[in-house]
Amino acid sequence: MATNVEVKRCLNFINGEWVKAANDDVQASTNPANAEEIVGYVQKSTKEDLDQAVAAASDAAKAWRKLSGAERGSYLFKAADILESRLDDIAETMTREMGKTFPEAKGETARGVAILRYYAGEGMRKVGDVIPSTDSKALMFTTRAPLGVVGVITPWNFPVAIPIWKIAPAIIYGNTVVFKPAQEAAVTAAKVVECFEAAGLPAGVVNFITGAGSVIGQGIIDHERINGITFTGSDAVGKQVGQGALARGAKYQLEMGGKNPVIVAADADLDLAVEATISGGLRSTGQKCTATSRVIVESSIYEEFREKLVAKVKEIKVGNGLEGDTWMGPCSSEGQLNTVLSYIEKGIEEGAQLIHGGKRYTENGCEKGYYVEPTVFDNVSNDMVIAQEEIFGPVLALIKVDSLEEALKVANDVKFGLSASIFTTNIQNMLDFVEDIDAGLVRINAESAGVELQAPFGGMKQSSSHSREQGQAAIEFFTSIKTVFVKGS
Ligand code: NAP
Ligand code: MG
Repeated sequence: MATNVEVKRCLNFINGEWVKAANDDVQASTNPANAEEIVGYVQKSTKEDLDQAVAAASDAAKAWRKLSGAERGSYLFKAADILESRLDDIAETMTREMGKTFPEAKGETARGVAILRYYAGEGMRKVGDVIPSTDSKALMFTTRAPLGVVGVITPWNFPVAIPIWKIAPAIIYGNTVVFKPAQEAAVTAAKVVECFEAAGLPAGVVNFITGAGSVIGQGIIDHERINGITFTGSDAVGKQVGQGALARGAKYQLEMGGKNPVIVAADADLDLAVEATISGGLRSTGQKCTATSRVIVESSIYEEFREKLVAKVKEIKVGNGLEGDTWMGPCSSEGQLNTVLSYIEKGIEEGAQLIHGGKRYTENGCEKGYYVEPTVFDNVSNDMVIAQEEIFGPVLALIKVDSLEEALKVANDVKFGLSASIFTTNIQNMLDFVEDIDAGLVRINAESAGVELQAPFGGMKQSSSHSREQGQAAIEFFTSIKTVFVKGS
């Protein structure tokens, strides 16, 4: 495959310059489709580097917040055009660095372009309300102030879209940013930052620093001069971010894991449900926070649905995401592969019946990559570990229920509440689902993993800090409301 890309050290971007970290420690970012291929060397920066990034962001904040929204938006429009012109290169880097297929990587990058344009436009939309005062001579209104310096901590699974859906609203509302990507996808993330640089963004508005979560991530949590932290990642780390931010009074926003159900009602269009379950559960190798992982099916159609599902799963072509006919790429890393395999083992131990897949995949040139077969478990009960914990891999757990009431009960019986789907042709079933499901994203006759950038995104229960990202909801995190009362003297 295309390996003629120069292997380079990925630098930090601080105060408008690409710079080396204070030490010489780097880690190789490798291709999960071929572990021998190095995509880039990512610096393991230190607290000293972080201090410089925060100082740059802090210095830039004064002038940046004084610009009009339209002026700030003009930089985002430029960044969008630049990202669009580099789309294929960035998408290819993404596929090589974290494994998702090239068409999916292109789709994600195009999403990034659209998000930049959306928030560029937000610079000219209203930020407050006029509220009638009880004093007839006074004017009372709300306006919004930026937080100041915002720390952005992101996972590897959407290395373009997630950083952009945090950085774009942060800066349009007048904040400056210190961005720490996941080490595993930092080379791709650096290319996004290059687009901000090429757009001519003033020095210090967006700073980029790579390094271990335990050093740079923790450093962001603890840094006195960072006023807000927006985090997407695992449940365990998210809780640490929240606790640390709370302890020093910083604002925080957490988007974490999911254990997303799909309910297939007896009256569902089964072909549609099968297609959406596969797409929602197995695309991106199941490594989406909104991926379908529990498939809750009414008993009267259970066998028919299962047969159709397994027949389609058998057709999935696993391979390198850069090859044209690949439908599912590898797990993003060796660690991720091992986690998925250990959950599969656990499922077998607990008595779930493995009816498809379940093993590492090493055929057809896949022996050097972290591939796993698309996997389906039958006879899963909701108290099993594979029905409760986020696997983050291509594993579907089929659960049989006798009624839709039972389906809803099972669907809600987890600690997460990110996304949930139902397949049904009955309107009352749809309405009951909307009313009773514990999920921030409620999807009817559509896969669990679709999101639109102009709508609020986030979860209930332990999937989120109960805030929302994207669309106009983003303003709630990235600004503070000022209530203004004015009276002539
Ligand atoms: P992760 O291990 O929690 O890492 C997320 C980020 O936090 C990375 O940048 C990581 O850095 C950093 N980090 C690690 N330890 C830290 C610490 N002690 N303090 C501060 N930061 C720290 O998650 P991941 O494995 O990258 O991503 C997968 C998870 O993300 C899944 O649980 C998935 O559900 C979730 N996710 C949620 C959403 C959503 O919107 N709800 C979207 C996508 C993904 P390093 O990795 O570089 O060390
Ligand atoms: Mg990698």
